[in-house]
Amino acid sequence: MKLSLSNRLASYINALRPIIYINHFDHHIAEKLIESVADGAKCFTYTNAGIFSDKEIIETHDSSLVAFLDDILAQKDYATKDNPKHIFIILKDAHQYLDSKSPFYNPKCIALLKRIAETTMFENGVYITTFLVSPVLVLPKEIEKMITIFDIPFPDAEEVATIIADYTDSFHISIDENVRNELIVSFKGLTEFEIRQILNYAYQQSGTFDFEGVKLVLKEKEQIIRKSGIIEIFTSNTNISDIGGLENLKTYLTNKAKIFSKLGEAKKFGVDLPKGILIIGMPGCGKSLTAKATASMFNVPLLRLDIGKLMGKYVGESEHNLSTAIKTAEAVAPCVLWIDELEKAFAGVGGDGGGSDITTRLFGQFLTWLQEKESSVYVVATANNIAKLPPEFLRKGRFDELFLVELPEPEERRMIFKIHLKKRGKLTPEVDIIKLLKATEGYNGADIENVVKETIENAFCSDDKSVTTAKLLETIDNTKSFSETLKDEVERLREVYKKYSFKKAN
Ligand code: ATP
Repeated sequence: MKLSLSNRLASYINALRPIIYINHFDHHIAEKLIESVADGAKCFTYTNAGIFSDKEIIETHDSSLVAFLDDILAQKDYATKDNPKHIFIILKDAHQYLDSKSPFYNPKCIALLKRIAETTMFENGVYITTFLVSPVLVLPKEIEKMITIFDIPFPDAEEVATIIADYTDSFHISIDENVRNELIVSFKGLTEFEIRQILNYAYQQSGTFDFEGVKLVLKEKEQIIRKSGIIEIFTSNTNISDIGGLENLKTYLTNKAKIFSKLGEAKKFGVDLPKGILIIGMPGCGKSLTAKATASMFNVPLLRLDIGKLMGKYVGESEHNLSTAIKTAEAVAPCVLWIDELEKAFAGVGGDGGGSDITTRLFGQFLTWLQEKESSVYVVATANNIAKLPPEFLRKGRFDELFLVELPEPEERRMIFKIHLKKRGKLTPEVDIIKLLKATEGYNGADIENVVKETIENAFCSDDKSVTTAKLLETIDNTKSFSETLKDEVERLREVYKKYSFKKAN
């Protein structure tokens, strides 16, 4: 167990924080941690499978949580007479009794927890610390202020190395040094329990640990991070060569990629750690494409955060979800964290739109993290309508740079046509892209891609199967571009963009 973690928990206990919520699914880890700070405290544990005094199971006539807490209150003198130090109450998976939406909800449990907490806070010589250990965070309003949430971080590289060594030693498996180092990197962002499970699985599959095993680990890891539902590992083969135009933005990112590939050396040289960029601009012009390509340029994983998914139903749950998401991203770092449609997540905060309390708090938490970020999580945030975005995002210091993506210029449209025709094996002398440019004024990248797709589809269904300039022009003729369909929206966005001096991506 890491010393600093125990120290942090011990400092909360010494400060007489009455209820500590360890939001973790692995009881074993939480128990080890509590044991490391017990220092002679008498431990009472309540689980759905029985009640324990220290490690001994207690026979009780009534095994309900209410009866258990009542008994503890009756024994509180114990804390002063026999042991002036401490009583620890450990409640495992008791969230169901505290959740007003659960069929097991019992307000008496909350009232008793409050009484016990008040005893510790206001009665001299009584020290009872209650630990709520559960994978689900439930914070009843009545005791919310008395609860301290305690996060157990993911194991760091050194701890992961110990877990792997522990596993390989116990099964007498020899492991190549390079494979071991790869595994240590791949296991970042997972709990000890998850690491052990994957090791078991990978070993059972191949009977040894080699680079195939490392690939298996990465696949399993994707699953686990996906299951969390908060952050998503995005697998994409998008590369910088898939983006037509946006030359300024691409040059900027190419330079950042150089820094990212030698982070240690760059830091030593005095280069600041890159924070990230905000890409603002017209829909369908390659903002998301750029976010995906950034990860391949930097040669790091791409994580996607959907702020909407962070919203929880309990007080504090959304903030907790955001800190879990940040913790996951930092554990996986170096990585690119892509936040799509930033304005949708934080619409109305600080403006007239009336963002809710939760959104405002999340926004503050996110902004602080962005400003103080020391990790190699490179944020790529994208937004269309900045009028809805809190102005704080647009100030210096939050992102390294703000880029504006406009509708593609003729030369950019040429590149976009070329990319999409080539991708489908139809970049032939029969197509004269230059002749398509005039007819595609006001088209965004997505429109151009659709024209190419549709023409190829029609060609496939036709007799001669050829894809020609004339056929492409015919599709263009029958297509309504984005700026034609949403003329007013384009004008409105242009007016908003004019008010700011963003760096031009095109
Ligand atoms: P939104 O704001 O609506 O999310 P976006 O700017 O993020 O739009 P993308 O998702 O990047 O747009 O683009 C949509 C599709 O259009 C892409 O999958 C891509 O195929 C094509 N596309 C857009 N812009 C470009 C471009 N500059 N080069 C090549 N393809 C492009």
